[in-house]
Amino acid sequence: MSVDTSVLELKMFVNGEWKTAKNGDENIVINPATQEVIARAPRATKEETEEAIAAARAAFESGIWSGLTTHERAQYLNKIADKIDEKFEELVNLEVMDNGKLKAEAEFDVADATTCFRYYAGLILTPEGETYQVPENVQAMVVREPVGVAGLIVPWNFPLLMSVWKIAPALAAGNTIVYKPAEATPITAMKLVEIIEEVGVPQGVMNLVMGRGAVVGQTIAESHDVDMISFTGSTNVGREIMKAAAGNLKKISLELGGKSPNIIFADADFETAVDYALFGIFFGAGQVCSSGSRILVEESIYDQFVERYIERAKQIKVGPGMNEDSQVGAIASEQQMNAILNYIEIGKQEGATLACGGSRLLTDGLDQGFFIEPTAFTNVTSDMRIVKEEIFGPVVTIQKFKSEDEAIQLANETDFGLAGAVFSNDGAKALRVIKQVRAGITWINAYHPTYVEAPWGGYKQSGIGRSLGTYGLEDFQEIKQININLNVEPVSWFPG
Ligand code: NAD
Repeated sequence: MSVDTSVLELKMFVNGEWKTAKNGDENIVINPATQEVIARAPRATKEETEEAIAAARAAFESGIWSGLTTHERAQYLNKIADKIDEKFEELVNLEVMDNGKLKAEAEFDVADATTCFRYYAGLILTPEGETYQVPENVQAMVVREPVGVAGLIVPWNFPLLMSVWKIAPALAAGNTIVYKPAEATPITAMKLVEIIEEVGVPQGVMNLVMGRGAVVGQTIAESHDVDMISFTGSTNVGREIMKAAAGNLKKISLELGGKSPNIIFADADFETAVDYALFGIFFGAGQVCSSGSRILVEESIYDQFVERYIERAKQIKVGPGMNEDSQVGAIASEQQMNAILNYIEIGKQEGATLACGGSRLLTDGLDQGFFIEPTAFTNVTSDMRIVKEEIFGPVVTIQKFKSEDEAIQLANETDFGLAGAVFSNDGAKALRVIKQVRAGITWINAYHPTYVEAPWGGYKQSGIGRSLGTYGLEDFQEIKQININLNVEPVSWFPG
């Protein structure tokens, strides 16, 4: 493993310059698998955040980026992708150290990051715009333009990938950027911005500010010099962003939390359903917004399903992300680990049956890190908090349903609407049911795979707008109609 174990001194990037916080305020970043200090990150003040916003504003107004041709912007994006490829191993290792995830998971994230840059480099070269037939001698057309200064705020669960899902389309569309990573995971954010600088993206276009959500994030969300916010994080903070953005009626895109149902019918391929139900929640240690955290199983196979599921869950090897044999990595922070353990206690107090797991792992080699056993609760009811609230950890609930209607009713009995899946070998039934699940990202006979080409986002309190695909680019564009009068003569509305 070629990881530099010295403590990284992270910097912010404002108007083309690398900076520390003027008052020296710092955030200590630790490896959640070992609690070793791995980096120190600056904490910007409101004023420093405003400097970054001003730099992005000036760069946007200068047209230095939006004025480039799409070919020129596409070249920059492809160069960024090439550099990410060159630094693949380094980025993977840093993501594992910073977030605690498995090496295999980080490899997927970094590979997907290059795919995303290349996808948007290609997309902006495809034809766009529309023309309309109108009842006058006028040529009506629609063109797309950048929104302006984009504020990008991301969480800690996919530090690099969630950033790239925003940065790639924002740059592709011609916006300038103020970008804030999560405090727990700022390392690959700085590495990505270094790459963006290295390929020569003009000064002021890309600005990176680190620090507290309530200071840096809030300042970006409130600023009248920011034209749009693209936020990924919790539903509660999403609500705060919406309020803060109201001042200048910013365009907002919110990718928020979930409590997604995974519906398993008796006619499903049994082992496939069990396998994906494990993957659906324990991939990423359950710290995935789209996790299948509520398994709903048809009554006739419920007991058999629970028995096999628990047998398999108990075999899952939890351990440091860098260990080849680990199957579930660390929880990203102590705070998140304590929040998950608290929910496990709540589940017990609510009277649910703890069918497996339920504890922090303190065995040799894991005792310095934040590790939780894969945990499943059975005998749960819809009114329990562990069924209603997003836990964001390796904790799943398993419920029983008797009919197709009841499966749909239980699936939709939530304030969230991010994801969902159906397992059945009856294709018509699977499609009928998934069409009635009120969620934006769904699967039939699978869980989790998603593609940069397809829109990502939620119904209800899981968000507003869609990332990725053509929708992800539109999020960062304004739409303008242009009407060209083909009869150049006075309108003569007012006589005289
Ligand atoms: P969080 O909401 O606590 O923080 C997200 C980001 O917002 C961080 O950078 C944080 O510093 C910042 N922030 C905090 N308070 C702020 C404020 N008042 N104003 C502006 N910014 C503020 O979320 P988290 O704990 O980092 O991430 C976990 C959450 O993210 C989960 O709810 C998960 O479901 C969600 N998530 C959603 C998606 C999706 O695509 N829908 C993807 C990943 C994660």
